[in-house]
Amino acid sequence: MTFALFDRLRSGGFEHVLVGNDAGTGLRSLVVTHDTTLGPALGGVRMHPYPDEDAALDDALRLAQAMTLKAAAAGLALGGGWSVIIGDPATDKTPGLLRAHGRRIAALGGRFIPVNDVGTTQADLRIIGTETSPVCDTGDPSPMTALGVLEGIRACLRATGGDGDLRGVRVCVQGAGNVGAALARLLAAESARVLVCDVDPGRAAAVARETGAEVIHPSEAVEAECDVLAPCALGGVVDDRTLPLLRCRIIAGGANNVLDDPGHAAALADRGILYAPDFCVNAGGLVYLEEQLLGHDRVRAEQRVRGVGDRVSAVLEHARRDGLTPLRAALDLAEARLRRVTP
Ligand code: NAD
Repeated sequence: MTFALFDRLRSGGFEHVLVGNDAGTGLRSLVVTHDTTLGPALGGVRMHPYPDEDAALDDALRLAQAMTLKAAAAGLALGGGWSVIIGDPATDKTPGLLRAHGRRIAALGGRFIPVNDVGTTQADLRIIGTETSPVCDTGDPSPMTALGVLEGIRACLRATGGDGDLRGVRVCVQGAGNVGAALARLLAAESARVLVCDVDPGRAAAVARETGAEVIHPSEAVEAECDVLAPCALGGVVDDRTLPLLRCRIIAGGANNVLDDPGHAAALADRGILYAPDFCVNAGGLVYLEEQLLGHDRVRAEQRVRGVGDRVSAVLEHARRDGLTPLRAALDLAEARLRRVTP
């Protein structure tokens, strides 16, 4: 007898997967908690027309695990989780379906705190919140993610002989969405030289008008000659094909899962490219959400978000001292914190 799902949960250290079904509203959803050692699991509600349930499960497991690492590395009292609703948000999303998902989340007794993600909005979270508490529906975290990335870039500049001053530093922002646009604004305010691209040319043009950035074609981003490549679109930016093409000296951005495979961390180091681990450098939004849950004000939240730079510096220093890749050093940091708390 085989137990494929249990084997997978055990090997990845997952706590549990809740399978939500509601015939009345058509709900098919999954809620995953990966690790709640440090606190309740905070994670997105992603609604997407997955081709099958394996694809939905893969996405939810991968993202839940990433949230554990992000919260642990950022020193937060939160665990990692994720939820997905299988369906097309444009045609299948109804208040009834969202409420049904909220009731499934409520079954976890507050151990999973949902926040909006691809395919859901803050308004949807408020509907989910009529059935479960707490939910994160208190504002867009993207500007804080961007602020953390800015401080992470500064930390990388310091680690490579600079003083953290962004004046004249050439940064290629890949993706002009919520995080990318906010990052471009912050960089421009620091007199960095910003290149920007988006598969939606209107978005890149709008950011360029506002910030004075130079627009490049999305296909040119990876090969752009720049000091910093800041991936702020999708994951998998560094893979076997793109690795030899890179002409940046630092990679630090908002996107999750920037490396197609963890092995690419060593390949980047061999090429002399400093990689700031994505889950460290893009943690500003999560820090902000924790602050919101604690009921603190924006000033205090901003101070803590700027601390992302110190954490990136600590990871880079640990990597340098012990001859590790920054990814390994960041994983060490997160895993040590989880071990310290585990009884
Ligand atoms: P978004 O959807 O607002 O923006 C993404 C942008 O990237 C869009 O404008 C899209 O058109 C563009 N894009 C897609 N593929 C592209 C490509 N190949 N080249 C150039 N542009 C492309 O999303 P977001 O909220 O800005 O998040 C961006 C990334 O950061 C995602 O990977 C997300 O998971 C990650 N992230 C976001 C937050 C946050 O606070 N929003 C926090 C942590 C991580």
